[in-house]
Amino acid sequence: MNLEKFNEVAARKQKKLSTFLTQLETLVPPQLSGIVKAADEATWKQTDCTTCANCCKTMTPTFSEEDVTRIAAHLNMTPAAFRKKWLYKEKRTGDWMNRSQPCQFLENDKCSIYEVRPLDCAEFPHHKLRPWDLYGDTYMANMMHCPATLRLVDKVRRYVVAHYEWPEETETNDPKTL
Ligand code: SF4
Ligand code: SF4
Repeated sequence: MNLEKFNEVAARKQKKLSTFLTQLETLVPPQLSGIVKAADEATWKQTDCTTCANCCKTMTPTFSEEDVTRIAAHLNMTPAAFRKKWLYKEKRTGDWMNRSQPCQFLENDKCSIYEVRPLDCAEFPHHKLRPWDLYGDTYMANMMHCPATLRLVDKVRRYVVAHYEWPEETETNDPKTL
């Protein structure tokens, strides 16, 4: 994955795709679930996480109590020592998050605690969340970090704009691929 190119394309597409995700809050095309499913399958045929790891480099997962207990045990630490060494508690949500990025468990672009990684990591980039149109904010944030999410939102938007009446400006300078 060429992350420099991804960052460039994501910045160029951000406004258009964010507008689309905002529109989905009030305009839900028929068959949206099926459109998302097909676009998601096509996305994963083009995307290889093992050449990317950008989520681990630029974002933090949230660590649930179960995650902390499991990972700390795996590392022969107490949960308290684990939290003290690597995490902070986010004031607004109370979630436990990584203090630093890239994640301390990322080694040579691979997760060194893969078998016991946080559930949030295992489920990322959360493309299975449903109904899809209620998670616009999540996709809006994640598409700036995750090439798979950028591809998914781009594919869904292209399909919707081509097949439904949609309040969309004429496209200019909109690169199709990452
Ligand atoms: S725990 Fe593993 S999968 Fe999760 S952010 Fe860290 S390196 Fe990535
Ligand atoms: S989930 Fe997204 S950001 Fe993370 S490795 Fe896969 S493509 Fe890259």
